[in-house]
Amino acid sequence: MTTRRCPDCGVTTTEMRVQTGDGFGLHLVTDEPKKGLLGGLGMRETLRLRAFVCPECGLVRSYAARDE
Ligand SMILES: [Zn+2]
Repeated sequence: MTTRRCPDCGVTTTEMRVQTGDGFGLHLVTDEPKKGLLGGLGMRETLRLRAFVCPECGLVRSYAARDE
């Protein structure tokens, strides 16, 4: 697992799940057309959102999970 550090505190941040109140995970929608059969329907490629929270100051940094 990749270690992320808070830019202000320098401590290791903790990955936390990001989801809506309904329990759905959040995704980033790119401008790239979705690969496969749905590509012709105007669907866009999506990326999972990974959030890292600083235990000191509460800063949340979010990253697009491109490696999945
Ligand atoms: Zn911090």
